[in-house]
Amino acid sequence: MILIDGKKTSEEIKAEIAQRVAEIKLEGGKIPHLAAILVGNNGASQTYVGAKVKSCEQVGFQSTLVRLENSVSEEELLKVVEDINQNPDIDGLIVQLPLPKHISVEKVTNKIKPEKDVDGFTPANIGRMALGWPTYVSATPYGIVELLKRYKIETAGKHCVVIGRSHIVGSPMSILMARNDYPGNCTVTLTHSRTKNLAEISKTADILIVALGKPEFVTAEMVKEGAVVIDVGIHRVEDTSKKSGFRLIGDVKYDEVAPIAAAITPVPGGVGPMTIASLLYNTLLSAEKIIYK
Ligand code: NAD
Repeated sequence: MILIDGKKTSEEIKAEIAQRVAEIKLEGGKIPHLAAILVGNNGASQTYVGAKVKSCEQVGFQSTLVRLENSVSEEELLKVVEDINQNPDIDGLIVQLPLPKHISVEKVTNKIKPEKDVDGFTPANIGRMALGWPTYVSATPYGIVELLKRYKIETAGKHCVVIGRSHIVGSPMSILMARNDYPGNCTVTLTHSRTKNLAEISKTADILIVALGKPEFVTAEMVKEGAVVIDVGIHRVEDTSKKSGFRLIGDVKYDEVAPIAAAITPVPGGVGPMTIASLLYNTLLSAEKIIYK
């Protein structure tokens, strides 16, 4: 069994990005600059944004964190987005979700200039991904694609089953795995909460991508021997033996699935750590004008 190590791979990607930034500095070029907008005091959001800003420093990027009160109006937030759109020094913009209820995520997402949408959430960039055009693929799907690539997982002609059809993971993964590219060229089955006989379908998967958000849902009986298993789920469960009082588990029952899998991502240390590396990579692409010339 091959352990697909997302922690190690993400460190490698960050080192490659840092190397490129060092070269840009020597060439006297523009240092990539990521801006993040954080609205309110949601603890998890603060942690995520904090980690993103810290990673920017790690690879030598500039970063700007714009903090807004929970009471900020939609109009004010749209204005901040527009100012960043117009700021030539900023290459990438992320708006940390969730937003307060009085603000339309749709309107805010739509306001972000596709050229700076390094989260790959705007309709323009999702459309480009669906068309197979160069784009910013959103962080989690991009991280999975990169893991498959770096671990040289064969995908052409394979049956890929995706469990979960969210806009941020399952749906884009189904598109990416079906495209005429590597990784891709799979025959894809996208399953969801209304799918009948899920276990029968998942058992036929050569590549199983699990993103349904239910702790240890996928058991050994649902997996074919020799399958490649990508576990996207992250859940905290109480564990008094840990200093923190909790441990992390995925959507896959790792202990029983790992022994029959050909390759598997662990939780923690699998898909999760790849997310920030992908965001940094997209910001580098933006600064170097590789997607939008
Ligand atoms: P979501 O909650 O938005 O969607 C879940 C999907 O699973 C839905 O499409 C639903 O139809 C499907 N589903 C629900 N129950 C099902 C069932 N019994 N059988 C088949 N399908 C079922 O999910 P999401 O935002 O894609 O997140 C999924 C998991 O991945 C969560 O645990 C989340 O925390 C995690 N996640 C991790 C990362 C990361 O960076 N590692 C990123 C995003 C999400």
